[in-house]
Amino acid sequence: MTVTDLPTVHECSVAGCDYNHDTGCHAGAITVSGSDAACGTFIELGVDGGLSKALAKVGACHRSDCQHNSDLECSAESIRVGPGADAADCLTYQAS
Ligand code: SF4
Repeated sequence: MTVTDLPTVHECSVAGCDYNHDTGCHAGAITVSGSDAACGTFIELGVDGGLSKALAKVGACHRSDCQHNSDLECSAESIRVGPGADAADCLTYQAS
């Protein structure tokens, strides 16, 4: 897998995140981390953050027990992020 093959964040329903505009993640890439597949890029500062286009990739994922995880990278076609156990979780997570 190369950087251009990384999965996209298809949709994000976390309204309070500074990178989220109209359910699109505008960060360049996100990191999924934590015991609940939390989005480690979530931030709530009240800043209009991110790139002009929603093209966010999943740059890294620490959730090694997910079916889509391979060598700490995500192999899913795309993921969805939304509220879960944390304010922002990967909703595409599937226990292996
Ligand atoms: S689908 Fe699985 S491997 Fe991909 S980002 Fe979500 S938790 Fe990580």
